[in-house]
Amino acid sequence: MKSIITLHATPNAWLTNSVLAPHLDAFIAYLQRGRYAAETTGGYLNGIAHFAYWITQINLPLQVLDERTVEQFLSDHLPRCDCPRPVSRAYRDLHAAFERIDGFVRRRLRAMLRKQKHRPGQGRCPHDHKQWPNAFFADLGLFTMSKAHRSACQSRCGNN
Ligand SMILES: [Zn+2]
Repeated sequence: MKSIITLHATPNAWLTNSVLAPHLDAFIAYLQRGRYAAETTGGYLNGIAHFAYWITQINLPLQVLDERTVEQFLSDHLPRCDCPRPVSRAYRDLHAAFERIDGFVRRRLRAMLRKQKHRPGQGRCPHDHKQWPNAFFADLGLFTMSKAHRSACQSRCGNN
């Protein structure tokens, strides 16, 4: 977890002590393959660390994480957030972080689907995206954190 080492100790602990911890190495590897700048990766991880801290505080198991949970974090928690510093509260940064999580989850799902079809590979090829586009997962009911973010922003601004 090289990238986490660059995080402040507090958000690092939030991540490593959360239900997200078992997925961190794979998520960081995904970010590193995306060749984001270290500062960008740190921003994503700081935003996710805030979310991880919050779901830890409310004892939310990962299995029940859904669109409403993300909206609750953004619409209810964030405006009243008194989490200890350093905490990332910027909507824009959180949206970018959530988009990375969505991409990461879909990539892992594509890898699982490819494995079911006994095809080799790591999960990132145009053929996979064509065969299982984002809409494929949406049609199956997979919520996206970025969609929940957009919905929460619209509710917050009264545009729904
Ligand atoms: Zn907070």
